[in-house]
Amino acid sequence: MAESHSDCSVPTEESEKIIRKIVNQLRETGMRKTEALEELLQTMLDHHRPFLLSELGEMPGLKNRDQATIYRLVMKLKEAGVVRQLSLGERGNYFQINLSDHHHDYLLCRECGMVTEVPVECVLHEVEQKLAARHGWKDLTHSLAFQGICPECLAKP
Ligand SMILES: [Zn+2]
Ligand SMILES: [Zn+2]
Ligand SMILES: [Zn+2]
Repeated sequence: MAESHSDCSVPTEESEKIIRKIVNQLRETGMRKTEALEELLQTMLDHHRPFLLSELGEMPGLKNRDQATIYRLVMKLKEAGVVRQLSLGERGNYFQINLSDHHHDYLLCRECGMVTEVPVECVLHEVEQKLAARHGWKDLTHSLAFQGICPECLAKP
């Protein structure tokens, strides 16, 4: 299976802070802090990229856990707005943790399914700011995936 490359990774010190904040936020919704929850959040911060549920379940910290629990946690995190769901291409739904300070846009290969971060700065923030300033919208976000054929697939004979 194709892997994504060059993951963004949140540094440990920062990810500990983020996890504490999320756990506090979740406590208000009645969600308890469990080892599985912490492990899931840690994994999604160590690798700040969109995961298929099946990929998440195979990650080192999660593969020995009950997969139904992981699935349920991801859905709860999505409801709480901690995680967002991205539909990229035909492979289905990806899940990624929301960070307030940055996000990524993606390139998706139609041939091999590789998902990789767009290596240039997102130009849509400016558009969001204009929409907010001129049209009165608030809290705008977007998800963007360019789809095409990756250089590796192009190089194949
Ligand atoms: Zn990132
Ligand atoms: Zn490809
Ligand atoms: Zn963007």
